[in-house]
Amino acid sequence: EQEVAEYRKMLAIRVSGFDVPKPVKMFEDCGFSSQLMGAIAKQGYEKPTPIQCQALPIVLSGRDIIGIAKTGSGKTAAFILPMVVHILDQPELEKDEGPIGVVCAPTRELAHQIYLEAKKFSKSHGIRVSAVYGGMSKLEQFKELKAGCEIVVATPGRLIDLLKMKALTMTRATYLVLDEADRMFDLGFEPQVRSIVGQIRPDRQTLLFSATMPHKVEKLAREILTDPLRVTVGGVGM
Ligand code: ADP
Ligand code: MG
Repeated sequence: EQEVAEYRKMLAIRVSGFDVPKPVKMFEDCGFSSQLMGAIAKQGYEKPTPIQCQALPIVLSGRDIIGIAKTGSGKTAAFILPMVVHILDQPELEKDEGPIGVVCAPTRELAHQIYLEAKKFSKSHGIRVSAVYGGMSKLEQFKELKAGCEIVVATPGRLIDLLKMKALTMTRATYLVLDEADRMFDLGFEPQVRSIVGQIRPDRQTLLFSATMPHKVEKLAREILTDPLRVTVGGVGM
């Protein structure tokens, strides 16, 4: 425990909550498939970043998480890698039943980046990723979703439109990520985010990532996460 505390201190990691898993030192400690390890190596990722060191074992253990770390700290892989593991763990990967992993991001640029990252890590497992955000044809997205996918990366407004059009159902969705939650609030997406969360079964695993943690985001987190662990890396902005 002493050694773990020192390791966290060295990486500027602070954690709060009950039964916190130990941070990992290497990707090899995560039990990833050889395909996933290959994809990680192909990206040139040699070792996990500090947020990844602590977030990966937490999320892989099935716990909810609030992850707070500044931009550029590697939060995307911290939720994509365990999402791939979560999907592979599902007993029956039936087709055409809607996404298992749902990622919401505030802007199309961000959603697109996450989409590309998700594809890199899921391709070798045959996991299908769909992108759902403005600037692309809604009809094309409708057709793609109808064909089935395991992961959806979306901006809130467009996802709600497509849910209303019944392009997808959330019956299979058990892994929800809210990325850049603070910006989602700044851009006024709180009602849309709440609507999406309300359509996903309550026994889901929920992950919330943010660069800052204003009170409004804190309040949402308290409402939609279950016994979350909170991981902060470095100093926190408000
Ligand atoms: P954040 O979401 O925290 O702003 P990103 O997930 O966008 O950060 O990652 C920032 C950059 O770091 C990206 O270019 C990403 O490919 C790279 N990166 C992520 N994890 C690692 C790692 N373990 N080793 C090296 N580079 C990484
Ligand atoms: Mg990010």
